[in-house]
Amino acid sequence: MLEATAPDSPIAKYLEKRGPGLHHITLRVENIDVALEHLKARGARLIDQQPRPGAEGARVAFIHPSAAHGVLVELKQAAARPARSTAHITRYGLGDLELTSLYDGFFARDGGSMFGVVPRTLWAPKAPPDDRNRIALAMRPLIVRGTRTLLIDAGLGDKENEKFRDLYAVDRARHLDHALAEAGLSPEDIDIVLATHLHFDHAGGFTVRDGAGRLRPRFPRARYVVRRGEWEDATHPHERNRPSYVQDNFLPLADAGVLELVSDDQTIMPGVRVQRTGGHTMHHQIVWMESKGQRAAYVADLFPTAAHLPDAWIMGFDLFPMETLAARKAFARDVRERETLVFFPHDPAVSAGSLVDVNGRRTLRPTPSGPFES
Ligand SMILES: [Zn+2]
Ligand SMILES: [Zn+2]
Repeated sequence: MLEATAPDSPIAKYLEKRGPGLHHITLRVENIDVALEHLKARGARLIDQQPRPGAEGARVAFIHPSAAHGVLVELKQAAARPARSTAHITRYGLGDLELTSLYDGFFARDGGSMFGVVPRTLWAPKAPPDDRNRIALAMRPLIVRGTRTLLIDAGLGDKENEKFRDLYAVDRARHLDHALAEAGLSPEDIDIVLATHLHFDHAGGFTVRDGAGRLRPRFPRARYVVRRGEWEDATHPHERNRPSYVQDNFLPLADAGVLELVSDDQTIMPGVRVQRTGGHTMHHQIVWMESKGQRAAYVADLFPTAAHLPDAWIMGFDLFPMETLAARKAFARDVRERETLVFFPHDPAVSAGSLVDVNGRRTLRPTPSGPFES
């Protein structure tokens, strides 16, 4: 619905000449290139063969009225959400627990690897690739404050060399130290570090190099909780998973005697429980948080970003994709039955939200701050 805001505006002139009425109908489409190809293949007459820029960063194209019973129809693809958000922490209350989504900067990975069998035509509009076909990813560790202060994963850390940082477009201008300070915490405040798995983008921040070049645990007072099977796999890598497991990220924990291996799904501190999903790695685990009837989940690489919500949008990295599929279905069933705040480890723009079904499609409703906060 449009009205003129000035007597000499284009809309005022149009109304003066032709009077009020229906000018055109706009249909929102998810991918305008696909929609236009679809129409062309069916012989529909188009005004715009290619999309053109519309207002607010949208891309639009008009279908000729003769192809739509005399009605002018516009297709509109809304502007992609920002490629990535600026780094900031987000706090959420969950009963007696306080959850703070942190950041360890951004990196980028090949879009094809990130979406497995899904063709680029489909994923590119949701995760725009750069000129080296990489998509932007955040690293978002999570702090859980309850009876203890627990950190889930710790991002990439700063031990990687220039070649690595170039390959993965590492941007840690603002990193975990900044995020912890924003949250009012120092590394000494962390009691427990909990690993979802030991890939470098989750465990890199577990260790640091001191002034003498020696590796030591980054969080001096913490015990580090790791799934036993994941530890075995990470310390005995094979050709396929070796690049993901950087031994300097976790071997020093065993040397320092701060490593605690757990074998089963269990409670790590009151209100915080781990559950093995497998799939991404054999012993990959997610973390459930629950207090006073409210629930949240840190899904780690089960759903790395909100763009990975469709069941089959599984990473090429996953060692056991059919297990990922089963774990996703089980997780989706579970959170459909009970409202759950879901934290994503790598989404470039969103730290948390709830999963909702829109027209039968799993969709994210972002939660900018705690839904449960009073
Ligand atoms: Zn991973
Ligand atoms: Zn990851």
